[in-house]
Amino acid sequence: MIEFRKVQKYYGKFHALKDIDLEIDKGETVVLIGPSGSGKSTLARSVNGLETIQSGQLIVNGRDIADKKTDINRIRTDVGMVFQHFNLYANKDVLENIMIAPRIVLKMNEDENKKNAMALLDQVGLADKAHNMPSQISGGQAQRVAIARSLAMKPRCMLFDEPTSALDPEMIDDVLGVIKYVTSQSDMTSLIVTHEMGFAQEVANRVIFMDDGQILEDDKTDVFFKNPSNERARQFLSKII
Ligand code: ATP
Ligand code: MG
Repeated sequence: MIEFRKVQKYYGKFHALKDIDLEIDKGETVVLIGPSGSGKSTLARSVNGLETIQSGQLIVNGRDIADKKTDINRIRTDVGMVFQHFNLYANKDVLENIMIAPRIVLKMNEDENKKNAMALLDQVGLADKAHNMPSQISGGQAQRVAIARSLAMKPRCMLFDEPTSALDPEMIDDVLGVIKYVTSQSDMTSLIVTHEMGFAQEVANRVIFMDDGQILEDDKTDVFFKNPSNERARQFLSKII
């Protein structure tokens, strides 16, 4: 569960998140859209403490991120994040990339870790690439490894920030397919920033539209795409679809 209560975020004097109120329930898949610079990445990154907020409350899986007593590493163990630019460890093979964090952070035993990593590779369609180095796989495959690597930590929430926007068009569908599968797992909570509107319609329970640091529309997916009430959301949709 992710809950923003009156969250304000500034970069210096610049007000990047303005009074954000948002609740994402366990198991929900929420797609976040909006123009460049509207604050989507800032919002997503604040959920696992990559950006610090200046005021308000941000509760992630029952813990308040802004509370100094909260162990941010504990939050990050529970919240996986996949960015536009995956960075796998270049000097480790695909399997090892997936196994590192569970070994070090979760102290998972080696057999279980390997079994789990191979199962994840299978889920993302890359079981045959386990021993390739990152330089020996395609961008779309690397992004799928990055997703498997996040999932290996058994997170309760996943954040995706434009996971396909750096990929060649022919690789996008495979990655979206994997995300679709991940988000369909019943208790996974996901927040996805994307410009892929067809995909958004397929995976999202809800769509949120942001502009200028504010949430201007928050609707069930079908309502959002059929009849958004906010004028700027309408304009944005008419340009992007
Ligand atoms: P895009 O679609 O281009 O990724 P976005 O909606 O993700 O845009 P953010 O990256 O969240 O937008 O940025 C929101 C605003 O905050 C922008 O005006 C940006 O210039 C500003 N901003 C982001 N990061 C910083 C930073 N580290 N320092 C100062 N300003 C920043
Ligand atoms: Mg962004």
